[in-house]
Amino acid sequence: MLGLMQDRPLVIPLLLEGARRQFATKTVIGRTSSSRTVTTYGAVEKRVRRLATVLDDLGVPLDARVGTFGWNSQRHLELYLGVPSTGRILHTINHRLFAAQIAYIVDDAQDDVLFVDRTILPTVWAAVRHQPSVRWIVVMNDSPAIPGDSHAGDSLPADLRILDYDSLVDAAEPRPGPFAVDDERTAASLCYTSGTTGNPKGVLYDHRSVVLHALMLLTADGFAIGEADVVMPIVPMFHVNAWGLPYAAVMSGATLSLPGPQTSPVALARQIAEDDVTFAAGVTTVWREMLPHLIQDGYPSLRRIISGGGAVPVALSAAYRGAIGLRLSNAWGMTETSPVVTSSRVGSVKSGLNDAEKLALLASPGPSLPLTGIRLVSTDDGREVDWDGETPGEFQVSGPTICRSYFGAEPGTAAFTSDGWLRTGDVATIDPHGYVRIIDRTKDLIKSGGEWISSVELENVIMSHPDVLEAAVVATPDDKWGERPLACVVARDGAHLTAEDVRAHLVDRVARWWVPEHVVLVDAIPKTATGKFSKLALREQVGHAVV
Ligand code: AMP
Repeated sequence: MLGLMQDRPLVIPLLLEGARRQFATKTVIGRTSSSRTVTTYGAVEKRVRRLATVLDDLGVPLDARVGTFGWNSQRHLELYLGVPSTGRILHTINHRLFAAQIAYIVDDAQDDVLFVDRTILPTVWAAVRHQPSVRWIVVMNDSPAIPGDSHAGDSLPADLRILDYDSLVDAAEPRPGPFAVDDERTAASLCYTSGTTGNPKGVLYDHRSVVLHALMLLTADGFAIGEADVVMPIVPMFHVNAWGLPYAAVMSGATLSLPGPQTSPVALARQIAEDDVTFAAGVTTVWREMLPHLIQDGYPSLRRIISGGGAVPVALSAAYRGAIGLRLSNAWGMTETSPVVTSSRVGSVKSGLNDAEKLALLASPGPSLPLTGIRLVSTDDGREVDWDGETPGEFQVSGPTICRSYFGAEPGTAAFTSDGWLRTGDVATIDPHGYVRIIDRTKDLIKSGGEWISSVELENVIMSHPDVLEAAVVATPDDKWGERPLACVVARDGAHLTAEDVRAHLVDRVARWWVPEHVVLVDAIPKTATGKFSKLALREQVGHAVV
């Protein structure tokens, strides 16, 4: 027998309706490269209606991918809400990837139109200008032409596809009536994973997963976001929906505080004080860089700071507590998981811990949020591993906010188990109360400043040097970036190769931040029985590497 409750789809227009009615006077604080702006959710909702007309007038088909290269801004928020509410798919793109990856991603997604912040346009122009699927490039002017502004003198490329966002939105009639997306499984947004070997893979979120994920962030043991909060997503809106924070803020009616292009550590530290931020989330590198710029007595309203996407060094968390009285907490997630799966806490079951133990507990991923299944699986025999807090296993996850297949790919790739769980590539322990600790990674990747570097790709480029016989790259701990690549290189017989030669070879071939500071010339790379590089043995050989 079926229940008798209303079958109301979980879709993003529900959030828009809240912005229109209940939270119309709540504010969205934004920043251009030179100024601070304040608007309301009510005004944002009205602009979303005009944006809907713009998308119709530009002839953007339903289901089309609408690419964005944007900072955390009011206009990006309008796209976050408006694109999916009209049945199109918001495709956020990370402009920090290198040009070939950006070009691949735009082509793979077959983006129909791109919305680009003016301050980002010069970075991505070469990668997108020749993309045949792109019919329009709508520029969002986040850089008013004022004296002293470094972008003021830049003229836009002469290209007939280029349009101006504000002119289009201001001139458009608002679409009347409520937005309707009938099926909650309609695709809402698309984000590509990066850094893995092979090409980036698209993760296609649906309305239901976006809404459920936002609701999960609102739970008391999640991020406990509520109407009284001022939420500052330091994490970029160009990757994994800024951890879902914009949607959670709109759903709860919390004030949003957005940095726009002003992402320097000093500007971010100032913004937290200026906007009376209560909740802020970013990657570890940003928190570390902000530390020297914290404003004495500047954060009386701040209640929670989250460092996610990687491990939190306990010393950094302690430094924050010393400086502003708040410890950093941690969250675990992946692009494939919307992304937040766990959120650290010191629950009632942990009340007996001493202070140092609590600090360490908060710095590790912690228990999973409601609706998400987690488990550990032995890499030896494929059996589930006990939650004893000691035995490691591959961390696997499942639930309505976890992807089941990649965009455009055949279902059933190695990333998923036969019973449909996502294999995360992380190795973890889980204690009897469900507290997760990440202890290793099986993925051949290095996470530097929150962004991925593929060790395999780096090895391949190094090995394309004529004097290199072979090369292997492992991660090494780094105070500033979390991890940095360390390259071990074997020179060909008779060659006079130096570490500098290797770096010089890489400069034009990979993104600058991929080039390893540490290049070690070795006699041989240790191999496994099957002839593959033994990263394990190599790590022992070079001593201090972590992966
Ligand atoms: P991405 O898909 O780029 O968001 O990266 C996801 C990966 O980042 C995970 O599979 C982990 O390897 C790593 N990661 C994310 N959060 C954490 C965390 N709290 N602790 C340790 N590693 C993490």
